[in-house]
Amino acid sequence: MKKVLFPGSFDPITKGHMHIISQASDIFDEVYIGVLQNLSKSSFFFTIEERLEMIKQLYENDDRIKVVTGRKAVSVASEYGCQYIIRGLRNTIDFEYEKNIAEINQDISKNQINTICLFADSTLSSVSSSTVRELFQLEEEIDKYVDFGVKEKMLRKRREKLWN
Ligand code: ADP
Repeated sequence: MKKVLFPGSFDPITKGHMHIISQASDIFDEVYIGVLQNLSKSSFFFTIEERLEMIKQLYENDDRIKVVTGRKAVSVASEYGCQYIIRGLRNTIDFEYEKNIAEINQDISKNQINTICLFADSTLSSVSSSTVRELFQLEEEIDKYVDFGVKEKMLRKRREKLWN
């Protein structure tokens, strides 16, 4: 059985991420979405628990897609028996960044885990979680970039923040 880990912050998961997950599930038997705390990012819109729950709901009807968490991508991959890590490429900046991480992960996993990169859908290559959060804060439409359920959770979170 071929398994792959797709690690990321997913704050929130976007249609760009979902495109990568859909391509990965065409190639692999099981896709593990790893919701990880990116230590280089300081502030988050959703907690890890909220992100896990939201992504589980999105894929509740697909038993080949699992949603997990952990501290380090390489450890999570070996914990779940994933031989590969998958990442998405939108542009050359992503390429440079991903190449570095892939080499480090290959090194710390002692060549046990390799990274495969898939290209972004051309209509979604400008989409990132941070642009979605910014557009949302400016009260712009985000329907093109996130699933309806994700937008609903963002609206709920905003209402909760206003009440507290
Ligand atoms: P991280 O904090 O690890 O960068 P992200 O959630 O921002 O987590 O991204 C996870 C992965 O998804 C990265 O490989 C990133 O390049 C990829 N990605 C993000 N947005 C898109 C998109 N619109 N299309 C394709 N891949 C994307």
